Amino acid sequence: MAEQKNDLMDKIVSLSKRRGFIFPSSEIYGGFAAVYDFGPYGVELARAIREAWWKAMVSDHDNIVGLDSAIFVHPKVWEASGHVGGFSDPLAECKACHSRVRVDHLLEEAGVQADEKMTDDDINKLFSEHKDSIACPKCGKKSFTEAKSFNLLVQSNLGNFTGDWTVAPTYLRGETCQGIYINFKNVLDSSRVKVPFGVAQIGKAFRNEITARQFIFRKREFEQMEMQYFVRPEEASATYEEWRAKRWQYYLDLGIREENLRWHEHENLVFYAKAAWDIEYKFPFGFKELEGIHNRSDYDLTQHSKCSGVDLSYRDPQSGEKFTPWIIETSVGLDRTFLAVMTEAYTEEAVGENDIRIVLKLPKKLAPVQVAVFPLLKNKPELVARARELFSLLKEDFRVEFDDNGNVGKRYRRQDEIGTPYCVTVDFDTIGAGEDKSLEGTVTVRDRDTMKQERVKVKELQGYFERNLKR
Ligand code: ATP
Repeated sequence: MAEQKNDLMDKIVSLSKRRGFIFPSSEIYGGFAAVYDFGPYGVELARAIREAWWKAMVSDHDNIVGLDSAIFVHPKVWEASGHVGGFSDPLAECKACHSRVRVDHLLEEAGVQADEKMTDDDINKLFSEHKDSIACPKCGKKSFTEAKSFNLLVQSNLGNFTGDWTVAPTYLRGETCQGIYINFKNVLDSSRVKVPFGVAQIGKAFRNEITARQFIFRKREFEQMEMQYFVRPEEASATYEEWRAKRWQYYLDLGIREENLRWHEHENLVFYAKAAWDIEYKFPFGFKELEGIHNRSDYDLTQHSKCSGVDLSYRDPQSGEKFTPWIIETSVGLDRTFLAVMTEAYTEEAVGENDIRIVLKLPKKLAPVQVAVFPLLKNKPELVARARELFSLLKEDFRVEFDDNGNVGKRYRRQDEIGTPYCVTVDFDTIGAGEDKSLEGTVTVRDRDTMKQERVKVKELQGYFERNLKR
């Protein structure tokens, strides 16, 4: 049976809930739009994705270091970065039901093509011309207000004990990279890095996204994995191309099929950017941004030097030459990677005439459970004890689950749905109580993708998984 793409998104959402990957936030209170929680298997998959990114960006390089900066920063950071003034989406309100909708999305859905080069002002003008013929997606009435800009930064009252809103508000960070820029000098002074070098960070970011849709693709609380690479100005263009190539390869290594990836070049660059390309992934709702790769020139360090009064230039230790490094940025969302990986892995296979096997063909290195260990029967203490022993041994090195619910067939189905590459069954032969005594000390290992089973010696299991779980 062919995979049915049309309702693929619904199937992924349903599997995510049913099997404990992703839960809608605050469900018992009716939900909380565009916020989600990772369940027991989701949290393991997310950790494995973070690890893969960290390995590719930090461990595999000798000149990239990590950072974990705070979510809160001095309010001036967001002024210096331009977010207070310019981090906004144009929005219109339906006069009938008062829902607020992104104007660019309304235009897109009404079939009015906004040119990518258009500024917010141009888009607002275009909306003004068409708004009387555009129906509200919620109530269907055609009565939108003019568009207004809506800032995406999420405000907090941290430290404001007076409740006085004339005091500059603190924000929850809208992106993680500002924490890297403001620590540029600290990293330089405390570690042995020299330009060119990179600083990588994984952490939460918050945005007041107006349209809550497309599952975890657009969340209000999400996680970014960003790396800022500081280079000599004259090397920026060549370094940019190197990072583009590396980041493309990273997705192939993560098991994403090349035909589901494509490049998108930004034409409408912000004034300081020298180049901006996105890697887009073919999500169930079409090709959309997965990662942005940007040549940001010397804008960030110059801005923070100016606004803080602290010199953030760099002195070459050999030549003594002083300059402000340029920044090449790679920025991807953990949540979007998660959704891409799930989309790529979700498979339905026909079993017999009218049954379907749902399998998450996750890369083995990412699977939330890498090995499931079963006793053939749960009411045979000798089998259970041996399986428990094996479970304890293997979980030292791999992500392992012990499962004795239902029959083995049901357990296979469940493990297939969560993407477990290998299931190990301890049976009577294993403990020398079966007919074939030559099988004593062996177990059945079942492969998720081929469904083939083979007998493997217990003492060779660790090596077997070490070889096979790298991919
Ligand atoms: P979009 O155009 O889709 O809103 P963006 O261009 O605003 O994204 P960036 O500011 O470049 O995104 O952020 C870098 C990365 O962070 C994106 O490529 C994406 O993977 C992730 N990201 C951004 N906003 C969200 C969000 N609301 N939910 C989940 N991930 C996000």
